[in-house]
Amino acid sequence: MTEFANRSAIVTGGARGIGAAVVKELVKAGFGVVIADLLVDDGTRLAESLAPHARFQILDVTDEREWGLVLDETEREFGPLGALVNNAGILDFGTVETETPDLFRHVLDVNLYGPWLGIRLAAPRLRAAGGGTIVNISSTAGLMGYAGISGYVASKWGLRGLTKAAALELGSSDIRVCSVHPGPIHTAMTAGLDESMAATQPLPRFGEPEEVAAMVRFLITEGTFSTGSEFVVDGGATTGQ
Ligand code: NDP
Repeated sequence: MTEFANRSAIVTGGARGIGAAVVKELVKAGFGVVIADLLVDDGTRLAESLAPHARFQILDVTDEREWGLVLDETEREFGPLGALVNNAGILDFGTVETETPDLFRHVLDVNLYGPWLGIRLAAPRLRAAGGGTIVNISSTAGLMGYAGISGYVASKWGLRGLTKAAALELGSSDIRVCSVHPGPIHTAMTAGLDESMAATQPLPRFGEPEEVAAMVRFLITEGTFSTGSEFVVDGGATTGQ
């Protein structure tokens, strides 16, 4: 039995990419993990491959009612909540002048309002369980600006700020809140991107989902004196900024 064997974790957007790698790391650490995602087929397949330590539950992170169902089901299946990873996120394309207001609002909804809802609803459960960890997956776009993805940049800076506000509010309940800022990582989200964009980084390549998941796992299982901080996993991309 590991230290986390009777604690549960939720990973939003956990069906594929970075989220799926985080799910596997947390199962290895001993958590019972709920994969909370819109992608039913990928999520169900991943849960089956990790049974009985993981299960899939449909979640649109912008839906408060679905969050309630996921939290109830998670604790019923795997015990008191120990960790929440706000990983689900979407990318927009378009300049401030060309992007539609609907798309901009939708990106903020999924990438910022979703994590805010998750923190709000998970906090009482983590407090009741004696504490826990929330990790918000931001981006290098939460540390600097990029042209052509204004909604994404605004949402990821917002998520970094939300991390700090929540860390201040929840620390006294032994709930730690940190943000992780990946650079370009090989996932479906970056499938169309030109890999030469990484050529000027100190480590001139895209990262792998497992390299981000290792940081998330560390923050949840070992980083017990860290809260409100940014943890960058970007091959050095922002080092010279
Ligand atoms: P993927 O697109 O591979 O996976 C994201 C998952 O989130 C998908 O399964 C997607 O489902 C799901 N999702 C999207 N919207 C919602 C929603 N409203 N509710 C629940 N689930 C949802 O992305 P990555 O693994 O690449 O990215 C994961 C996180 O890491 C994101 O927050 C992203 O911004 C961040 N990140 C990624 C980087 C990269 O280079 N890949 C770099 C920096 C940060 P569906 O496909 O059905 O929409």
